[in-house]
Amino acid sequence: LTDDVGRYTRQILAFGEGGDRKLRATSVAIVGLGGLGSQITQALAYLGVRKFLLVDDDRVSASNLNRLVGATPGDAKREELKVKVAERLVLSVAPDAEVRAIPVNLRSVEALTAIPGFDVVFGCVDRDGSRLILTELCAAYLLPLVDIAAEIIVVDGREPDFGGRVLICRPGEYCIDCADQLDRNQAKWDLSSDDARATRAKHGYGLGDAVSAPAVVSLNGTLANIAVTEFALWRSGLREPHRHITHYGFRGKTAVREDTQRKQGCYTCEYLLGSPERANLSRFLPKAKE
Ligand SMILES: [Zn+2]
Repeated sequence: LTDDVGRYTRQILAFGEGGDRKLRATSVAIVGLGGLGSQITQALAYLGVRKFLLVDDDRVSASNLNRLVGATPGDAKREELKVKVAERLVLSVAPDAEVRAIPVNLRSVEALTAIPGFDVVFGCVDRDGSRLILTELCAAYLLPLVDIAAEIIVVDGREPDFGGRVLICRPGEYCIDCADQLDRNQAKWDLSSDDARATRAKHGYGLGDAVSAPAVVSLNGTLANIAVTEFALWRSGLREPHRHITHYGFRGKTAVREDTQRKQGCYTCEYLLGSPERANLSRFLPKAKE
């Protein structure tokens, strides 16, 4: 493509010609196109990634406009699908990109069967239920999963917590369970049916839904770009990725966790590894209503 002449000159200086080519040949599935996912999408499009799967059934609302990269007030007004905004963003940067945008929930046959066709999965979800599904899917189909989380916790009388973390989970190497970063009770709550949730809430088991959690564009950008930088260094062959990076935004610190070994007997890294039968992902599909 003659249009591309000179386009990557400056990053070839960073990754080398071969590394740059390998990086740009990687196909990606991005699950969750909100504050984090939109920034990941933008960065990957600029890096030269040209094959995307975008998965999210959510729509743009006015309260997204403080952080959803690519979204306009018009998108909020007509409640545009977030995957459509992301697709438009990719194509504006790279008109030759191949984008499959599916406006479905992760808990659908369409999403669960499409994701395994891509080289690397980016999990940009805000619920532990979705994290659990992505973790099991990626282990079963031997897909590397980059899981990004950003969180702001504001409690009166305490130093606020503006932070998050990035996990690079390659199959059998390290996972969210090895990292102790998955709250399985919360995940169970997220995935329970509306009826079961109502019962649990009535009996005081409700863990609640963080519908209006604080969210700031710059924190999302920091975490998204830490994740994409690790991806770029790893896929270009420059170095192995750090598996676990924590960002303490309020203190202005970022730390690499060193003890990132696979946990002995890890359910995900050992039992589910390479086995869609054992993962039995169809149990995550919503039950048909009678
Ligand atoms: Zn593990």
